[in-house]
Amino acid sequence: MSVRLPAALAALVLLAGCTSTAPTKTPAPSVPATPVATAPAPSTPADDNLNAVAWSQTAIEHDLIYLQTYRDAESRLLAALADKQWDALPKDDRLTPIKDLKPAVVLDIDETVLDNSPYQARLIKSGGEYNEADWAAWCNEQRARALPGVVEFTQFAAKHGIAVIYISNRAKDLDQSTLANLRKEGLPVSGPEAFLGLGTFVEDCEQVGTEKGCRRQLISHKYRVLMQFGDQIGDFVTVLANNAAGRQKAMAPYMDWIGTRWFVLPNPTYGAWEPALFNNDYTAPRDERRRQKVQSLRFD
Ligand SMILES: [Mg+2]
Repeated sequence: MSVRLPAALAALVLLAGCTSTAPTKTPAPSVPATPVATAPAPSTPADDNLNAVAWSQTAIEHDLIYLQTYRDAESRLLAALADKQWDALPKDDRLTPIKDLKPAVVLDIDETVLDNSPYQARLIKSGGEYNEADWAAWCNEQRARALPGVVEFTQFAAKHGIAVIYISNRAKDLDQSTLANLRKEGLPVSGPEAFLGLGTFVEDCEQVGTEKGCRRQLISHKYRVLMQFGDQIGDFVTVLANNAAGRQKAMAPYMDWIGTRWFVLPNPTYGAWEPALFNNDYTAPRDERRRQKVQSLRFD
């Protein structure tokens, strides 16, 4: 079943894996980031993403979270394989009964399998925001590294006859570069059908924005899904309203699946959590978006 997003949200191109700080076609802000008014004039401009990217790239804690997630998943995988009732697709996306279907695991790519923090670091250096052309250029470099633990996990799955399928919001025309990058890093890629990119056509299902529901439904006809992995809740389930309440509501039926069927990875550098703080309005100037983000903080 295809689910529609509200028009305002559907209009957003929330390229999970690409949405750093702005959606596609959002014009660059007319003013640079402004320093805090009461502080002495700083020598460097404010950059909200510096700590997040520095943590992702340099903190060993980041690497350990990925490692423990994939190790834990691996320790549970064969039990999931043996349990013929076990399925990790959300109920709305399970269109074909799981009986006799081949087993699979489903992974998002960006910040789940591949580390694109160098792209984010370049934006910090240039003072720029996400744009489609620069993002495609980065993807075509094929230099993203595998995140810790994922190669071992996916190889383990493949060795046990479990299909490894990547559902990504990378554009379909980046598929060759993406598959080459995955292979270069040692990830199992059974063929082009293992990559379901943003433009994947799914009969009788209308994909809204970057929602992955149609692609999960496509998978549901061929596979029993043992586990899903992602750094955005949209990697697991359709989110009807990208605000705090809507995000909670989308996850509520599946909280028992966290850590058993669904494995969520950290992404402090970008993601739908961020525009949820400023009503998904990327047309607002950067300082206004920042003001609303500050307003969302708790002070007690
Ligand atoms: Mg991602």
